[in-house]
Amino acid sequence: MESTEFLIVGCGPAGGTAAREAARRGIATVVLERDPVVGAKRVCAAGLRPGFCEDFDLPREIVHLDPPTITLTTVKRTYAFQVGPSHTTTREELDGTIAALALREGAEIRTSTLFRGLRREREGVVVEYADTKAGTRRAIRARSVFLAQGSSARLDDVDPRFRHAGWNAGLITCLQYRVYPARPAVPRTYSTLEMHYYVSPRSGHNVIAWMFPKRDHLSIGLGIQAKIPGGDLRAELDAFLATVQERLFAGVPYTVRTEGNLLYGGLPRPAIGADGVMVGGTAAGLVDATTGEGIHEAATTGRIAAEAVAAGRAAGTQDPAAVYERGVKRAFYGRLRRRQRLMTMLERKPARFDVLFDQLERTPRFAELLQRDRNAFSPMEWMYLYGQAAKFSLSALRV
Ligand SMILES: Cc1cc2nc3c(=O)[nH]c(=O)nc-3n(C[C@H](O)[C@H](O)[C@H](O)COP(=O)(O)OP(=O)(O)OC[C@H]3O[C@@H](n4cnc5c(N)ncnc54)[C@H](O)[C@@H]3O)c2cc1C
Repeated sequence: MESTEFLIVGCGPAGGTAAREAARRGIATVVLERDPVVGAKRVCAAGLRPGFCEDFDLPREIVHLDPPTITLTTVKRTYAFQVGPSHTTTREELDGTIAALALREGAEIRTSTLFRGLRREREGVVVEYADTKAGTRRAIRARSVFLAQGSSARLDDVDPRFRHAGWNAGLITCLQYRVYPARPAVPRTYSTLEMHYYVSPRSGHNVIAWMFPKRDHLSIGLGIQAKIPGGDLRAELDAFLATVQERLFAGVPYTVRTEGNLLYGGLPRPAIGADGVMVGGTAAGLVDATTGEGIHEAATTGRIAAEAVAAGRAAGTQDPAAVYERGVKRAFYGRLRRRQRLMTMLERKPARFDVLFDQLERTPRFAELLQRDRNAFSPMEWMYLYGQAAKFSLSALRV
């Protein structure tokens, strides 16, 4: 049987980064990617955290804009905050560039291949997949496997230890329009990331909506944490688009490309590493419930997986999956669990969004620390954050 050292499923930011960083360390790496072209079908607003390109050594050319402002809008009003600045791109450019860099490091990327399942043998993990272009079924043995197939990951049959009872309830139905205005929108459009939080007057569901500007188009979309019929979702997005157009490109003709996908906004998966198999990115449930951000988390899990495989090779005996699980939990679980609890609390009484945003506006240091949020706070900063959190909780409970 064909064999490799490191087998990766999915070539999104998690899988692509794992491939690039493992291959760079001389680890024989094969990636299985379902799509014929990496990144071409990914639906995403593609906002990147400040410093993302530097952190992951990516060329600046993939960046469309560097919006220095983020606005958070509720039914009551809009709150504006200065950010890093953040960046916007498209997933065909981001994922395609990471994949090209992984190839350059020596990784092999097999497109049009569909992961089917795996079994563990004494000599390693055997992964079965379909080559959808050739119409054949194939198998490959690997010492370590990284599963990074995004929100479509169904892992219950792969390994019962990766089961997550809350997975389906955490799925968010998203619809996005790429809007191409015939003339540029008003200038402030291109310096602002917009997030909107409201309750749908049509369905009563909580909605998170966004407008992220790109060089030649605007990503205008929304997500609802429920199964919503396609027609209703489209009506919801059309209503939101009309409000954006009125403010930013009134009277300007435009064309639209429609995109739909699932996002995950629940708690992270309880187990993400066992006997040579690691789960990363959105497949591990690592998405910020308050913003929908997950590219940074995905790429970081790819990096941690590559490091764990390299360390396992050096040590010889230690299961990289156990090292990986510890590393990822330390990096993300505390923050993402807090974000998920916060989102649940806010959505239960949406007036609480104003309590939080108002407090952030009045205390810029609080807003600045929340953006940083990388598990790197000093004891004084933690005390300050706990104080602000207590203040918010008391005010929110009065709503
Ligand atoms: C509408 C929307 C807007 C978003 N906006 C943002 C944003 O602005 N900023 C941000 O940081 N995050 C955003 N996110 C979240 C972000 O998209 C994810 O966090 C990120 O894509 C996770 O990367 P990943 O590598 O884990 O998975 P993915 O990017 O989903 O990649 C998974 C890859 O696996 C492949 N695959 C799937 N199944 C198989 C299989 N069986 N066999 C082989 N390959 C397979 C897929 O084709 C894909 O290439 C958004 C998500 C959505 C849906």
